[in-house]
Amino acid sequence: MQNQNEDGNHFGKWQIAKDTWCITNHWANFMYLLIGSQKAMLIDTGSADGNIREIVESITDKPVIVVNTHGHFDHTGGNSCWPDAWMSREAAMYAKEPFSPIHREWFEEKDYPDYEIHELSDGEIIELGDRQVKVLAIGAHSEGSLAFLDYNTRAMFTGDEIESGQVLWFVRDRNISAKEVAALHKKNMEKLKAYRDSYDYLWPSHNGAPLVPDTYINDFIALDDDFIAGRQVDAPNTGGFGFPTDTQKPGSPFEFAGKLKRAEHGCAAVIYTV
Ligand SMILES: [Zn+2]
Repeated sequence: MQNQNEDGNHFGKWQIAKDTWCITNHWANFMYLLIGSQKAMLIDTGSADGNIREIVESITDKPVIVVNTHGHFDHTGGNSCWPDAWMSREAAMYAKEPFSPIHREWFEEKDYPDYEIHELSDGEIIELGDRQVKVLAIGAHSEGSLAFLDYNTRAMFTGDEIESGQVLWFVRDRNISAKEVAALHKKNMEKLKAYRDSYDYLWPSHNGAPLVPDTYINDFIALDDDFIAGRQVDAPNTGGFGFPTDTQKPGSPFEFAGKLKRAEHGCAAVIYTV
């Protein structure tokens, strides 16, 4: 069932900065709408639940560029409300793969299930008119993840690569060890740090936003180092609503993952396969 509140609303929205909005589908995702003088840009589209195009067009009448932080379907499902979307080459390989039959139904009932995909790469600048957004490749949680740096509002949008509940390290397309994911993740955290003069907050896709950059980035680098050195400290399942660790029960969306563990360092937490 698609979640609606007592007034029939599926989406919530609020302004986070000038010409900048956060949209949520009942707290499952945070999606961001950046409005320039010529165009608007929507970062991620949810799981095809509801009609995200309607809420976007209730905020702006500018033409909308749809971009995705990565290819997981809870970020790309609503792309089928538009004729095209921009994402990394890696994300394009599975952006149209729904997580479940109901997701497929929602996706296919929109106007553009065959939407066209355009490629974004590291270092590119997206011009919205008096507003430039830089694309940074930061893949670890998922291959081809992108961050978006908005110079106007000094905001860094980080998708699922840095967030407060836990970063999932077991949902990659290519199955590599937690130690190898940690090395990729550390390199990306250092990349975000190199741009630190250009932003004030991190805006992730799940589990609350914004985040204080230095605390999170430094704690994630420390946690990545723990994995690289093989000294990570396993923690009880305490983040957010509690992400299910240990052996996944039949029927869980993460049943395929088998046995999972959580490790923490300060504010940083990841879920990984044993
Ligand atoms: Zn993801």
